[in-house]
Amino acid sequence: MKIVFATGNGGKLREASEILGKGFELVTLAEAGIKEEIPETGKTLRANSILKADHVWNKCGETCFADDTGLEVDALGGAPGVHTARYAGEDKDFNKNMDKLLYELAVLETEASMAAAAGLKVKKISRRARFKSVVTLIIGGERHIFEGVLEGTIARTKSGNGGFGYDPIFIPDEFPGQTLADITEEQKNSISHRGKALRAMAEYLKGLKG
Ligand code: IMP
Repeated sequence: MKIVFATGNGGKLREASEILGKGFELVTLAEAGIKEEIPETGKTLRANSILKADHVWNKCGETCFADDTGLEVDALGGAPGVHTARYAGEDKDFNKNMDKLLYELAVLETEASMAAAAGLKVKKISRRARFKSVVTLIIGGERHIFEGVLEGTIARTKSGNGGFGYDPIFIPDEFPGQTLADITEEQKNSISHRGKALRAMAEYLKGLKG
């Protein structure tokens, strides 16, 4: 089955091809003749996921899906969330994004230890975080939404060469002591937010055929 994936992110494309496997031929935005960057002006991951899928459907009328993903860090009140891609600026530089996140957690921890040293009662700063993916599929003009969550913690330093985006600072609960960039792509896909959402989408599409 041919399906347009509304992303310009090579990492996402590679993972989605692996996760969906045989039976799905992913068509890129460029191959579908869509060259412009799709605006992500929504206030939630769900809104942005819908916005991207709608854009592709309205342009080419082909079965398509979009994935919008965010990282939520508890100590930062759920940030970067919907601002994950542009956390440190419009250039979407993932190294700067990770540095900003690590810096903000370090500041909170330093403040907490100074307060504790001054005899104040303070709560330990939590490094708990999660990735959330919202996938919007449009088939025959109808939208279907699938979601996936991956729980973990934010590492103190970057580690690993695999994956993309924030992977070097995210330690999934399933692989203690290793970041998503330390484990293999197969291991990441077996537990990831995107893996969960896309496998649910694939099951839905297979059900339609049967
Ligand atoms: P978007 O869904 O393309 O808006 O991506 C939001 C941000 O999350 C980008 O900075 C991506 O690099 C990052 N991101 C998306 N998926 C992942 C992932 O699986 N691991 C690490 N970072 C990711």
